[in-house]
Amino acid sequence: MNDTVLFDRVALIGLGLIGSSLARAIRRGGLAGHIAGCARSAATRDTAMALGFIDSVTGDPAEAVRDADVVVICAPVGAYADIAAAMAPGLKRGAIVTDVGSVKLAVIRDVGPTLPDGVHLVPGHPVAGTEHSGPEAGFAELFDGRYCILTPPPGTDERAVQAIVDLWTRVGSNVEVMDAHHHDRVLAITSHLPHLIAYTIVGTASDLEDHLRREVMRYSAGGFRDFTRIAASDPVMWRDVFLNNREAVLEVLGRFTEDLTALQRAIRWGEGDKLEELFTRTREIRRGVLAVKQA
Ligand code: NAP
Repeated sequence: MNDTVLFDRVALIGLGLIGSSLARAIRRGGLAGHIAGCARSAATRDTAMALGFIDSVTGDPAEAVRDADVVVICAPVGAYADIAAAMAPGLKRGAIVTDVGSVKLAVIRDVGPTLPDGVHLVPGHPVAGTEHSGPEAGFAELFDGRYCILTPPPGTDERAVQAIVDLWTRVGSNVEVMDAHHHDRVLAITSHLPHLIAYTIVGTASDLEDHLRREVMRYSAGGFRDFTRIAASDPVMWRDVFLNNREAVLEVLGRFTEDLTALQRAIRWGEGDKLEELFTRTREIRRGVLAVKQA
């Protein structure tokens, strides 16, 4: 191993936007001796090999993870339990299993119990993405300057956590470690609710009459366009996010609904000061996002 190589062998289960971006970033940094890929469909396997961001490919998770030091699950969260069961027989003692899923308690619930003794679980979530899917959509720079949150369960081997901190740091991310429950609550408001709102607005617009729909497209730069981008995100991935972060999403949705009702009332009663006060406060939040370079 030369000193840029972190692991002899890394296996990626799922080769879509995030899996293929991570493979490209690992390759860019020369971080692994061998990158093994695993994808469900032959089309994805063929594309991944043709694009050249992995060294080998298989459709069998147990074969993909054999001899791997690190295994990264990069599939929709609803598939994790089956993937964990399928790959478990191939995992070597001392291997570290991590993932990129947008919810974290469900990973500990669905993957943890299936892993053999001596295999470490360090769940992770790169807070980076686009609305595109599949192996062609990935790019090595996706994680540069973005946060990656790790949520190791209490008692996780510290060297295993450090190895995954090193992996994400070397692909360009700022790494934070936090409790899985806290992660799911924070992401419910910063990511999951905004997606739900975007899906709702775009759905409402598409339910309108045909002629009005054309107007919606024509004048979309007025704000609607940004929602259509978010609402173009992968349907299966987002279905699984909502099904697997139910409590936290329902809790923030309850608060959001109350706030929306208060705004509805302010508009009805002509309370301009209330509207202006809120819009002034939210403008500051945007400045805060720009200040931490996440815009
Ligand atoms: P994606 O582009 O749709 O790729 C998903 C990959 O998972 C594909 O290789 C797909 O295989 C495979 N897969 C799907 N269902 C499977 C199943 N039932 N069993 C085995 N493999 C399956 O999705 P992505 O955007 O990379 O998302 C992957 C994970 O990253 C999700 O857990 C998501 O929550 C998380 N994440 C996404 C973003 C984002 O912005 N997209 C950001 C952060 C985290 P085939 O190609 O063969 O169908």
